[in-house]
Amino acid sequence: MKKKRIAILGATGSIGTQALSVVREHRELFDVEVLTAAGNATLLIEQAMEFLPKVVVITDESKRAAVDEVLGSKGIEVLSGQQALEEVVQRPLIDIVLTALVGFAGLKPTIAAIKSGKNIALANKETLVVAGELIMKLAEKNEVAILPVDSEHSAIYQCLVGEEKSTLEKIYLTASGGPFRGKDATSLSTITKKEALMHPNWVMGQKITIDSASLMNKGLEVIEAKWLFGLDVDQIEVVVHPQSIIHSLVQFKDGSLKAQMGLPDMKLPIQYALTYPGRLANTFERFDFLKHPCLSFEQPDTKTFANLALAFDALRSGGNMPCVLNAANEVAVAAFLRDETGFREMSTIISETLQKIPFIASPKLDDYLQTDKEARLFAEQLVTKKKKVYQIEK
Ligand code: NAD
Ligand code: MG
Repeated sequence: MKKKRIAILGATGSIGTQALSVVREHRELFDVEVLTAAGNATLLIEQAMEFLPKVVVITDESKRAAVDEVLGSKGIEVLSGQQALEEVVQRPLIDIVLTALVGFAGLKPTIAAIKSGKNIALANKETLVVAGELIMKLAEKNEVAILPVDSEHSAIYQCLVGEEKSTLEKIYLTASGGPFRGKDATSLSTITKKEALMHPNWVMGQKITIDSASLMNKGLEVIEAKWLFGLDVDQIEVVVHPQSIIHSLVQFKDGSLKAQMGLPDMKLPIQYALTYPGRLANTFERFDFLKHPCLSFEQPDTKTFANLALAFDALRSGGNMPCVLNAANEVAVAAFLRDETGFREMSTIISETLQKIPFIASPKLDDYLQTDKEARLFAEQLVTKKKKVYQIEK
């Protein structure tokens, strides 16, 4: 394999640090050319000292000087600000951009990277949730690959190797069910931030951990899958599989099912996206059937976990509605993490925002940006309005 030159957006996070462990095992195959972080200057500096990229970006402007003081003397260029992400991904020295930053912030840098012909290893699912149609068209036009890092989508991608797209009947996205699987609506209303941040099978960043507990993560993944694999909504089904061993399945026209299995470890889908179509030997722990004698399956409870139903609704409505869903969810999760709203109230905020924001059937980029702004503003107002009631009731 020719040495791949990588840019990692969001290098200091859960996916970013695991991507660097993959690279660490195969230094002969990868050059890390760009590392970026939002605010964790200490870790960014440490990573840059180890991997010696050409350039780093710290989006928090106030930390630029501190980063530059250490890395400038090592000949590493230091940039800051959100805009710098869009600039660095276009540099000719990069082959592939791993989008491991959180939320809507991933959209513009991903567009810039695609436009300059860079392949994308996509962890930032929110980009496809917000503007999936636009992104996939742009990728096709610029002949770049969008390689999924999300474990479910990586599983589907792996199952589809060697298959005719037209033979696919439907896909099953597996969901662990999160820490509150089996709970009823009443017990969900007293859930604390601490409880919601304890996922049974995966250690991840805070936002996706809350999304996993509320099943919004699965909703976002349904939308992500629709665009990645060009499916109708009815071709996508969610099945709860608490052990997280089967990462997802494809059902073909003849009824045959193909599943991709393994221990829950994000390093594998990250590595696959970075080496596709190749497979690379590694030392990751191997699956032991005797330790996992039982794999079970359940239907998701969309009555109690309304977010999954809301995501399906937004996808069926189409247009800018998934963008509204994403913005309202980002606001709701941030408010929940600040202890300003309850677990179940997050769904109310999202649902009310979806009803409020005007529908746009065929949005362009500017419409998405505007929709995101309006939806955030409205959702923030809801949080403020409901905050007092929530804190009194608590
Ligand atoms: P994280 O919070 O652990 O890390 C996020 C990284 O992005 C950090 O380096 C942070 O500094 C940077 N960042 C955050 N906000 C930013 C902003 N506004 N602008 C620029 N940089 C910013 O998150 P994570 O768990 O690694 O998730 C990253 C993405 O990957 C998310 O979209 C998530 O849904 C997706 N994903 C994560 C996992 C997982 O196991 N963690 C699995 C599947 C998909
Ligand atoms: Mg996933």
